[in-house]
Formats: sequence, C-alpha cells, structure tokens
Amino acid sequence: MKLSDHDLRQIDEEIINKLSETAVKNLSITLLNDLKEARERLNQNSKNSSIPPSSEAPWDKASKYEGEAEDTRSLDDIEALDKAIHGDKQALGSDCHAEEIDTPSRSEASSETEATSAITQAAPPPRKPGKQPGAQGFGRGQKITVHQHEPHYPDQCVLCAHVFNANHSRVAYTAFDTLTLKWGDLRQPGIEVVNTRHTYYENACPCGHVTQATPLRQPPDSLLPGVELSQWRLIGSSLAALIVCLSFRMRLSRPRIREFLHDWLGITLSVGSINKAIHESGRAAMPLENKLLEEVLKSELLHVDETPWQQKGDLLWLWVFISSSVVAFWISSRSGELINRILGYNAYQGRLMSDGYRVYRQFLKRLRCWAHLVRKARGLTEAYDKEAPAFGNQTLDFMNSLIAAIKNARETPPDTPLSKIYQDQLISYRQACEKMKSSAHEKARALAVEMLNDWDIIFTVLDHPHLPLTNNEAERALRHWVILRRISYGTRTEQGSRVFTILASVIETCRIRKQCPWRFLESVINNRRAGFLVPPLPAVIS
Ligand SMILES: [Zn+2]
Repeated sequence: MKLSDHDLRQIDEEIINKLSETAVKNLSITLLNDLKEARERLNQNSKNSSIPPSSEAPWDKASKYEGEAEDTRSLDDIEALDKAIHGDKQALGSDCHAEEIDTPSRSEASSETEATSAITQAAPPPRKPGKQPGAQGFGRGQKITVHQHEPHYPDQCVLCAHVFNANHSRVAYTAFDTLTLKWGDLRQPGIEVVNTRHTYYENACPCGHVTQATPLRQPPDSLLPGVELSQWRLIGSSLAALIVCLSFRMRLSRPRIREFLHDWLGITLSVGSINKAIHESGRAAMPLENKLLEEVLKSELLHVDETPWQQKGDLLWLWVFISSSVVAFWISSRSGELINRILGYNAYQGRLMSDGYRVYRQFLKRLRCWAHLVRKARGLTEAYDKEAPAFGNQTLDFMNSLIAAIKNARETPPDTPLSKIYQDQLISYRQACEKMKSSAHEKARALAVEMLNDWDIIFTVLDHPHLPLTNNEAERALRHWVILRRISYGTRTEQGSRVFTILASVIETCRIRKQCPWRFLESVINNRRAGFLVPPLPAVIS
C-alpha cells in the first residue's frame, strides 16, 4: 500500500479537482495499485495465492477445503483488510506496547519537533496469560543511550509525485529506538548492544499535501492472526535471534530470558515482549515451511519418528522428518493424516526409516529400525513362559550375528550379498516365526507377526549394508525437544505450535547443514520486516 491513512485523510474531491492532469494521472495509478492490492488481499487463500497449502496447519486442511472454509476465511480477510486500510496508525500504536514505546524516543521526538500527530494508543488487548496490565512493567521508561541516528525521509509527494530533496523543509513527526547486537566471533569475542534511533520525517509539498515516511508494517497474516511483523520494534532482528536461541536452544523459560537479558546485557524487557519477539520470528520464518517440505520430499533417505506433545491439555504428537540435509517438525494428532499430507499420495519416493507404526506401511521403500526389534526380543528373554524366552534368544542371536555381518560388509563389501550368505539361517528363522505366530504368549506372537509382516523390509539392509540399521537419527532429533517439553509443558495454542515447529525446523536444518542458525534467523527477520522475500535456506556445508 502506497497511500497511508495519513495520506487518505488529506485527499478529498476538492483537492483532486485542483490537481494538474499529470498529478491526477499519478494519483490514479497509485490508487489503482492500492486497490488491486487490497482486492487481492481480500480474496487471498491457499488456492489462489502464494500462501502455500502446506503452510496451513496440515490437520486443518481437510476441513478448510471441504465446505465450511470459504466464509470464515473471507471474513477473516475482510477484518485483516480493514485493519490494513484503516488501522495503520492505530496499529502502529498497538505495536508499541508500553514496554516498547515508553522509551525516551517518543517523548523526545515529539518535543523536539512539535509533532502534530499523536500516535493513538490501541485499545488494551484481551486478557492473556502472564503479567496483567497494571503490574510492574519491565523496560518501561528504561533510558538507553542512543548510539546512532537513522533518519527516514519521504522520497516524493504521494499526491503529485513531486520529488523531494534535502532543501525541502521537513519535520520529524515520530521516532523509536531499536536495539541490535554486534556479534562476537572467535577472533573478537564479546557482544555489544547498539541502540539506533529511527526518526521519521514528513515533508509538506508545494501542492499542499503532507507526505510522511513510515516504518514498514507487513499486512496481517491469516495463518498467524495477531502476530505483527514490523520495522517499528525495540527488539532488533539480532536481539530477536538471541531471544529465540535462549528459548529454543538453551531451553530457557520466558522469565529466565528476561532475567538473562537484564543481568548480562542491561536490557529490561517484559515477558510479553519476549514472547512477541519469538512469535514474530516464527511468522518471519513461516514462508520457509514450503521449502523445507520440498527438501523433505526430495530426500533419498528419510527418518521419521513422533513423540507425545501437549497443546494446552490436548495430547498431540511432535513429528520429526530428518534427512542428511533437512530437519522438519510438525505438531499434529498421531493419526496417519499428517503422514499422508506430508509424504502421502506417492509424493515421497525415497527410503523411509521408521518404527513399526502402521501409518508407515503405505511406503514401499521402507526400512525398519532394528533397535526396536532387538529391544522387543530382549524383553521376551525375560518372560515367564516356556517358548517365549527361547524365541527371544533365537531372535537376539540371529539379529546380533546379522548386525556384525552388516558392519563388516560396510568395511569390506562381500562378493556375495548377505541375503545369499545367510539364506539357510533366514529360512530356519522364518520357520520359527511361522511357528510362534500362533503362540499363546502375546508378546512373542506379536513379534513373530511383526517379523513376518515386514520380512522383506526388515532384511532389505542385507542387500544394501550401507543403509542405516536404526532410527537413532530421528530419536536423537526429538530428544532435545522432549526435554524442552518437560520444562515448558508444551505449547498453549495452535499458533504457538506453528511458531514452535517452524523455528525448530529452521534451527535444526541450519545445524545439520553446519551453518549458524542465529545469523540466518537475523537475516530472515530483517528481510521480512522490510517486506522482502525470505532468504533461501543456507547451503549444505559438508
Ligand atoms: Zn505534491
């Protein structure tokens, strides 16, 4: 949108009638472009826009596409559009929650410049978890030395396209501070906080119109309603990346992050601001979800696993998909729906390593984790039963001898495939399984049936000894987040879960590619706040 609220309020029929022909043409083009953009936003959904279907909650897609979707979605969009068109100024106000706005910048800027436009304070948000309005604020009134100034001037008059230059009289009408970090590195350790004062100016054109330079504020995102993405921020992109690191990598709670920033960096922020910075980072990274999905689908070997996850009392599952160059997480129910949406309908053609959960059976090039089978066999050896311990021991001995042979084959590939070398043992073990599939011992019977059902899949590795024997990659990728879940008790909302999984995916993908997640995240936030495309995922460093 080129025309702000401030501009629209100045323009009326009388003004237009007085404009020159060129000025009317210029204005018409601006209005046409704004109108087209507004219309497009009004009708935007994943079927007709760049919003990728995968960026909707995967388990939500069915309901959204089948009927009920259209109406609610367009209502949301009307609200969003309404806010985009009418709420510019108010939204600027609402960006600046007490702890972020009551920095000296606002009052100084207005007294310095006698700014005419007071920023409207937005209505208080609905009661949220955490500290309530009226409680002692953090960062409220914190006076931080300004290290550098960055003025922002309007380039030209939006009404008549008159180009402004430095000789034009201009007036500062608002300002805010942004805290960024100078990173330490191995040569020069240390971290430095830099406070930049951004001052925004308005120019009065000879035609009478007053044009303001404004900080960019991205239009609302229907997937993450209420999560603002804006340049008007006390928390600069590098500080936001540090906050995400403290939360996701160091597993600190929001109050602990506040404590750390206060004690070590001298920055006082509220828990609400910290939470907002995390959510904004998630929104900034969200366009990467489609790219991650693409990378998952083109992997030759994919490990998949899932672990319980709580979303405000609901039992959901955190799923991980990991290859040698990508790690992607989604939170969903444990049904096969997520697997179908991510990998199903022949979308995934590579090898899939998983446990024996039935939703994976549709994949032909499947691999089974031997660690699970060995664990089950070991359990049987301790059973109080005549047959079960013998079957357990037989399974254990057989698998252990195969594991040793596979490891040898990786070092020195044999002339004959292992499946040929072990042909006789395979036949006699299969006979044991056939016998045990009608055993009275439930677990022995289950293991025998599992072996027979997945026979070819389990023993694929004999012909391809370079393939993995276990799903340890996926289990390891989940472990960090299982500990975080215990500390944080999971997520509270669907939106929180979406933010959680996209940030976890980006962080782990950078890490598996041996790239710094935080510098990448900083550039993601920077680009997206400024309205640019999200940068591509960092290259794989081997
Ligand atoms: Zn003008």
